[in-house]
Amino acid sequence: MDTLKQVLTRLQADGSALGHFNISDLVMLKAVVASAVQIGAPVIVGASEGEREFVGVSQLAALVASLREEFDRPIFLNADHTHSLAKVVQAAKAGFDEIVIDFSALPLEQNAARTKEAVEAIKAINPAILAEGEIGDIGTGSEIHENLPSAAGRLTTAEEARQFVNATGIDVLAPAVGNAHGMVESMVQGNTRKRLDINRIAQIKKATGVFLTLHGGSGTDENDFREAIGAGINIIHISTELRVAWRRSLEASLSSRPNEVVPYKILRPVLDSVADVVGSRLRLFEGKRARRSDLAAGEVA
Ligand SMILES: [Zn+2]
Repeated sequence: MDTLKQVLTRLQADGSALGHFNISDLVMLKAVVASAVQIGAPVIVGASEGEREFVGVSQLAALVASLREEFDRPIFLNADHTHSLAKVVQAAKAGFDEIVIDFSALPLEQNAARTKEAVEAIKAINPAILAEGEIGDIGTGSEIHENLPSAAGRLTTAEEARQFVNATGIDVLAPAVGNAHGMVESMVQGNTRKRLDINRIAQIKKATGVFLTLHGGSGTDENDFREAIGAGINIIHISTELRVAWRRSLEASLSSRPNEVVPYKILRPVLDSVADVVGSRLRLFEGKRARRSDLAAGEVA
């Protein structure tokens, strides 16, 4: 089975990005995996500190390892937004494939020092685990917000990205390039979209040469996604869109079956709704070259 680094390298050559989907429970995890398996795309499951606490760190690692083995597919696991060295070490020891070290609320120098320490701890446990660091302000909370940080706010510069990557030894960088966690109501309705600074992404890629992650992808303009992948984005995080689908479909399922008490019957349409969102995003993140090679493989078969 390919490592996460090998998969990211291959996707980059194909003009594709890896879809990253946050999960809070078994329904969402099954939805992500079912969709990725159906499409034939690699996928990375993400869990923040709160999501990990709810599911259980070692339990989640065991579930993902078991799904990867059963389907024999590149299904990876990321410890999203980890704010302490202790939780970085816990995730590394539990067998996560990637860890997002998030000291982005600190001033840049302190962020770099704490991130470097965490990268060294990860690599001492398992050098194959990818370490991601974050600079700039992309807001907090994959929720429905009143307002998002303005797109014209603090974007990561190519120079600070270069310095941060050199100072920390990270494998993956999460920059602020117009993205933001969460959505506002008008985005949930589909009336407004987040817009990305494509030139800034290209400058940061050129200055650093590392893999780049786009956090807070929910509600982003679809053409911007495609251009961002072309400019150097390798991993795209989608969380709020899944949470919205989860809640809406759960409410619909409960209200359409007022006397139903069997959880797996109530939750089946929830799983399907979340899987639909995952599928639409995975198809969007697949590059033209990847789609052509799939077609060619199909023709040969
Ligand atoms: Zn994030």
